[in-house]
Amino acid sequence: MPAPLMDTYSPPDLDFVRGDGVWMITDSGERYLDFIAGIAVNALGHNHPALVGALKAQADKLWHTSNMFRVPGQLELAKKYTEHTFADRVFFTNSGTEAIECAIKTARHYFFAKGEPHRYRIITFTGAFHGRSYGAINAGGNPKYLEGFGPQMEGFDQIAFGDHDALHAAVTEETAAILVEPVQGEGGVRAVPDHCLRGLRELCDEKGLLLIYDEVQCGAGRTGKLFAHEWAERAQPDIMAVAKGVGGGFPMGACLTTDAAGEHMKMGTHGSTFGGNPLAMAVGNAVFDELTRPGFLDHVVDVAGFLKQQLHGLADTYPDVVEEVRGRGLLIGLKLKEAVVARDFVASVRDRGLLIGAAGDNVARMAPPLTITEAEARIALDKLDGALKAASQSLKG
Ligand SMILES: *Cc1c(COP(=O)(O)O)cnc(C)c1O
Repeated sequence: MPAPLMDTYSPPDLDFVRGDGVWMITDSGERYLDFIAGIAVNALGHNHPALVGALKAQADKLWHTSNMFRVPGQLELAKKYTEHTFADRVFFTNSGTEAIECAIKTARHYFFAKGEPHRYRIITFTGAFHGRSYGAINAGGNPKYLEGFGPQMEGFDQIAFGDHDALHAAVTEETAAILVEPVQGEGGVRAVPDHCLRGLRELCDEKGLLLIYDEVQCGAGRTGKLFAHEWAERAQPDIMAVAKGVGGGFPMGACLTTDAAGEHMKMGTHGSTFGGNPLAMAVGNAVFDELTRPGFLDHVVDVAGFLKQQLHGLADTYPDVVEEVRGRGLLIGLKLKEAVVARDFVASVRDRGLLIGAAGDNVARMAPPLTITEAEARIALDKLDGALKAASQSLKG
């Protein structure tokens, strides 16, 4: 990044100026097929008429009041979320990391209010990603994101993803909650099996812990259910952080809780100036209405099934490049062989006009708009085939 921007990112030499459905268009008119959607954010693609209409209509009325005043759109959207999920209470935020902050505070405050303030520790998993605030980098526990930012924050116990014995051993008298992404995004697109989510729920019930899901990336219809954990029976959380797709491109998130988990978050315990502002709520309501439209999630399941089947075919064709096809629904990872660098592969795919992302564990990550058609998926598969062929040929030298 050229100064005066901080060097925190290294974007390619492209300037996107317009979006159209699943396409992004540069200043010179080149069209790219968007298979990353602002990292699972543009769930309905770009320039969706219902979202544009909702935002424009609200822009003509009232932008911001702060939470000093009631925001009607908050109540409307909170009602929708509570009717369609496990939750009874909602706190609106501007981002995923803020939704996680609210979730952590809510969990700790629950035990404080019950007279058990010594129960504040939260169990997390390797490969987790929960955002970039100080609380969230400590919850995520990734040494790369913690280094250089002072002492590590107390209160998080990270165990190896999938290590059941370590999980049980980690629960102590001080444990308040377990925090997990039902599908890890950043960490390499790894889905937690349904029976493991149920196991976590049972463990939390047995030990009196709160179960917190981070569905910032895997929620909002991404897996073909409104929220990813809904695939698993009897595995509902007490608290859930959402963001990314729920705003469809407008910065917005939320922390959802049951009555029991959220009832102690009283006046003064938490707040946000922008969270749930009228513009965000206008778009958030429009996104929700689209996601819950009859047949919408069925389409996600269908097109995801097609993509997955075709990607398995590509993995079989290029076993020297692809180690595994991972993920759930339209959150898909191609774990690449060690000899192939995910970032280089992403660049090669981009050169062919397809936008995807890299994730941890040497994974090429795909999270297209949920509105993609099978025909658009075929275009993406064709471009992926080209990049895989090139990678395979260069390995053969
Ligand atoms: C992106 C992400 C976050 C952080 O969200 P921001 O909006 O970037 O703050 C938290 N958790 C998960 C699982 C994410 O993918």
